[in-house]
Amino acid sequence: MTFDLNNLLRENIKKLVPYSSARDEFKGEASTFLDANENSFGSPLTRWYNRYPDPMQLKVKEKLSSIKGVPIENIFLGNGSDECIDVLMRAFCEPGVDNILICPPTYGMYQVSANINDVNIKKVPLTPAFQLNLPAIEEAIDNNTKIIFLCSPNNPTGNSLDRDDIEVILNNYSGIVVIDEAYINFSRFRSFTQELTDYPNLVILQTLSKAWGLAALRVGMAFASAEIIHVMNKIKPPYNINQASQELALQALEEVGQVNDMIREIVAQRDILAKDLLTIPSVQKIYPSDANFLLVQVTNPKAIYNYLLEKGIVVRDRSSVELCAGCLRITVGTPAENVSVVNAMKNWT
Ligand code: PMP
Repeated sequence: MTFDLNNLLRENIKKLVPYSSARDEFKGEASTFLDANENSFGSPLTRWYNRYPDPMQLKVKEKLSSIKGVPIENIFLGNGSDECIDVLMRAFCEPGVDNILICPPTYGMYQVSANINDVNIKKVPLTPAFQLNLPAIEEAIDNNTKIIFLCSPNNPTGNSLDRDDIEVILNNYSGIVVIDEAYINFSRFRSFTQELTDYPNLVILQTLSKAWGLAALRVGMAFASAEIIHVMNKIKPPYNINQASQELALQALEEVGQVNDMIREIVAQRDILAKDLLTIPSVQKIYPSDANFLLVQVTNPKAIYNYLLEKGIVVRDRSSVELCAGCLRITVGTPAENVSVVNAMKNWT
């Protein structure tokens, strides 16, 4: 099937002209800015935050480009990858008419964002091995299916999706295929970022919220063809990444080595946590994880969840999610945090 971006776009989006401010013409460089109704006197802060931030976040994108090996024109930044999900939905899905396809159990925001935008949802559950059900996906796709969301490594199951299966979808489906790689840095598998040129319908999502430890800054990324990125830029709010987040992201992105050490430590702790949890009688199964969390099947999920809460330890109860019966999702913490959750679970009877 051939991919036709223009055909896929919503009519009103096709007509949209990108928002531009007078500032664009000067690329942020001039002696006097009296165009944007800012406060030229400054602010109560010692740092200067009185000017609007760079709407295209060029410096952050330059840095990301060199780290990821992806050209700047193939990078979009969102207020968290949650904003990227929402922007894609608004670009391609006509409210009340179009649908997205998701493979539960998976990240909840695809559904939340679809509901907010009045976009229908087709659900094709993962197989019991938490892999894609390709025949059922093919069967479910119709002419109004505009986006397929694949999450790999998947939240909440923790496993990576089979790369060959993802490629089958990329090759045969003429809509947008989103691969959400929020947890890719904890995985044994490589990102799809180097495959961008092969697939004009591919959008990859990553984030600074997980491996980079910057969830509070709200910086997420989408990597896609220059054409798709151009459309996303037309839809986003002009100043969607605030100045403090841009500055701090830039500073953090200098520290690739430190982040890689942290990733290694988290992955090592993940294995220790899994091993320790398995010694507890109420723990029945730990699913293999390529992420920074474990899906843990226990005998009494609700009771154990509440017991942990009483001890001041918050985990995620996923026991009512399909294919996750009996499961808690436990984030890998610091060594001390992991010891405390293991000890608390040992004491539960
Ligand atoms: N994708 C997945 C799979 C996630 O689990 C999360 C956060 N839990 C996100 C995206 C959202 O990340 P961000 O903080 O970048 O919005």
